Amino acid sequence: MDCQRVLSLMDGYLDRELDLTTQLAVEQHLADCPACHAISLKQQALSAALGAGARYHRARPVLAANIKSALDKIDAASGTKRRQTPRWLSLAASIAIAAFIGSGTTYWLAGSSSDDLLTQEVIASHVRAQMVASRLIDIASSDSHTVKPWFNGKLDFAPPVLDLTTQGFPLVGGRLDYLANRPVAALVYRHRQHLIQLYVWPIAGRPDTTRHALSRQGYQVFYWSDNTMRYWAISDLNADELRTFSDLIQQQASTGQMLPAARRLPTPEDMR
Ligand SMILES: [Zn+2]
Repeated sequence: MDCQRVLSLMDGYLDRELDLTTQLAVEQHLADCPACHAISLKQQALSAALGAGARYHRARPVLAANIKSALDKIDAASGTKRRQTPRWLSLAASIAIAAFIGSGTTYWLAGSSSDDLLTQEVIASHVRAQMVASRLIDIASSDSHTVKPWFNGKLDFAPPVLDLTTQGFPLVGGRLDYLANRPVAALVYRHRQHLIQLYVWPIAGRPDTTRHALSRQGYQVFYWSDNTMRYWAISDLNADELRTFSDLIQQQASTGQMLPAARRLPTPEDMR
């Protein structure tokens, strides 16, 4: 993929609207091309600045329905096939940005659709981390007392790093990742020859304590929240084994068998 193609896809890439293969191809280019990488950072900073000032509201269902029906008509008239990412959703997002710029209010489709988008993000992150071995782990250690402090100063929260070695899920290490428009902790565990990634970040708003389980693109995904953190676990393990893993994380996190929280906000030194 050349620079021109990458730049034309940049908005879709940053909004995570591309299909997984294209998303990964752009990512690969950005890893190799300092010029495009610099541009992507600038655009990210701009989106973050816009996002930070935005208030989020659920779009009225009638708006989404109207957009979808208008697009269906266009598709029917032109005989084109709908792209994999629902175009009405992308368009709704563009309209939301326009509405935000126009009135200081942005609309977003909340609830289950945001979980769907996050599921796609988690799967893409999981696949991507395994494609390039050096991306999987920033800190390699089976010792939670080594992995946990590594996050100090890199995140504005202290992720619970649990030791499940005796239960058959040894810790492999951890890294920083970026999901749901924020930096998150990615913890890597192993079960036999299978990797499990557990993404953790603080809850925003009311916790959704229901545990969700789903199977997508050959991966099992479990996600839930407790009173402080959101947890997303993904693996190519079977559902029963990932459920066992999720049970253990939930139990240990709730009984406070984690290390004491070391909370420290990042300093300018850390950002360099
Ligand atoms: Zn380039």
